[in-house]
Amino acid sequence: MAKVPAPNYDYQTNQLAGYYRIAIKDILAELDRVDISDFRRANALATLQSISGILSDLDTKSARWVSENVPIAANEGVINTLVSLKVAETVEQAALIVKFNELNEAMVAAAIADTQADLLAVTQNVDRKTKAAVRRAVSDSIKYNMTSGTNGRRTIRDDIKKRLKESVVTGIVDAKGRRWKPEVYADMVTRTKMMQTYREATTNEAVDRGVLYAQISSHGAKDACRGHEGEIIKLTLEAPGDFKTYEELQATGEIFHPRCKHVYSPIRDVGLLSER
Ligand SMILES: [Zn+2]
Repeated sequence: MAKVPAPNYDYQTNQLAGYYRIAIKDILAELDRVDISDFRRANALATLQSISGILSDLDTKSARWVSENVPIAANEGVINTLVSLKVAETVEQAALIVKFNELNEAMVAAAIADTQADLLAVTQNVDRKTKAAVRRAVSDSIKYNMTSGTNGRRTIRDDIKKRLKESVVTGIVDAKGRRWKPEVYADMVTRTKMMQTYREATTNEAVDRGVLYAQISSHGAKDACRGHEGEIIKLTLEAPGDFKTYEELQATGEIFHPRCKHVYSPIRDVGLLSER
């Protein structure tokens, strides 16, 4: 039986993280140019405009990346089903007959919109924080000019510069209160979403073909996922048998966590179920 290669989106997600890295670097360079001794409203507006320009460029690039790459993951998820169920002999053959069914059409559209919204939240956060920091730098600049003595001034200047930089690099705080650099967060979000899209596309294609079970992939995981490698899952809640669904397993937090590389292959052979 033809083997479906493990999905790997490192190349694409690195490319996306690269967009973020470059944008952040450009914003930092912009903030570095700020002249503390003469930072007035007019200069601040120019700085903010440059930053807005960098971020809106980033939004455009990220949105395009998402609309190009999420369907690729879905496509490969469907191929996984076609080959696992022997509808196609090889991955190449499957690639020629892939078509998104209604479920997958809707899922892909939702996944694109979700991922774009998640990434937009990242840039909006950076935008909000840098704006606040730049405004504060204007009032600090006044303080700087009123301070006499080199040491006092140097301290104020260093503080301003430090705050400006921090506003960009510690961009995101997640629901659990953890801090993320914008590019690391964007990378995590897109890796997770690509895998999730792959899995859901696998399920949608299988269920449409009347297949209700699947087996979780194995790659010798070292984390909590390892206890679930090779496990049989059911693809719909209504499927008979004492098996967990993808969503139930995900809710345990043991597998299908952010960045998890595990997928599953649909199985038609119910005989496999009694072996468990
Ligand atoms: Zn895993």
